[in-house]
Amino acid sequence: FKMASTKMILDLDTGVDDALALALAICDPRVDLIGVIASYGNTLVETSAQNTLNLLHLLGENDVPVYLGESHSSTTDHFDVMPISKAIHGEHGVGNLSLATATRKIEQTSGIQFLIDMAHKYQDELIYVPTGPLTNMAKALKIDPEISHLIGNTTLMGGALTVPGNVTPFTEANINQDPEAADLVFTTQENLTMVGLDVTLRTLLTKKDTQQWRELGTQAGTAYADLMDFYIEAYDRLDIDHRGAALHDPLAVAVAIDPSYVVTIPLNMRVTYDKDTKDYGRTIGDRERLLEPTTTNVAVSVNAKRFVRDFMDFMIAVLKA
Ligand code: CA
Repeated sequence: FKMASTKMILDLDTGVDDALALALAICDPRVDLIGVIASYGNTLVETSAQNTLNLLHLLGENDVPVYLGESHSSTTDHFDVMPISKAIHGEHGVGNLSLATATRKIEQTSGIQFLIDMAHKYQDELIYVPTGPLTNMAKALKIDPEISHLIGNTTLMGGALTVPGNVTPFTEANINQDPEAADLVFTTQENLTMVGLDVTLRTLLTKKDTQQWRELGTQAGTAYADLMDFYIEAYDRLDIDHRGAALHDPLAVAVAIDPSYVVTIPLNMRVTYDKDTKDYGRTIGDRERLLEPTTTNVAVSVNAKRFVRDFMDFMIAVLKA
């Protein structure tokens, strides 16, 4: 049962680390996960939605509705999964695992409308956590600008302020998918927290950790260990990090629930999107809004030890069941 009055909506391009974020959101009793919006990104949008449903089914949560978001960026009419995404997340986003198909189906209403409706319904009590491109939120903001004031807190995984990007020296992968959408979100959404590479690259999980999930002897424990090991091996093989794999998306969920995991600086941000410049897709302070009240907090340091320990405790609890 859940007593939490705080409602959470995830917006996932599921995705290995999205799968971890999903599990964390399910088992933290401080929030009630009321729905998941699918995004394109690590996979096509339909694959992302089906992956989320299948993972929810694996975790015994068949009550959480999953909605489709946009299938491509705000400036294109088509999306192909990048080869690097397949190398990191597997051909279909879940580390080449074949998960049992959920009985629940993808909802018929759009994820964009769902976000708008829930923003009006729950207002301050709503936390929205996008861990993929910001295309869905930008579209919702265009349809109904009022949600920029309504949503209690938006904590996004994306961007890089104090460290280089992972696509270019300036650009992080989620932002790179749709810099125009990201700029709209950063320049209009209130109560925004950026959980970017500045902090997520400092939170690593190893095979020693996933071995603990495997040893639970449950179907979910084995599946999540296989999933994460695929990702850890990809990090090693692709020379991203040989010490472990970063907990990008679950850190955003954790910070959304408990901001004390990170140290933030208040800064009005924007995203540069001039294709002719080498800093295309850069998350940087907004010179035009330096004198205005700040709407964004940027995480620049993290208590990684405490986060990884708490993350492991929650994961073991959810995978044990
Ligand atoms: Ca993601």
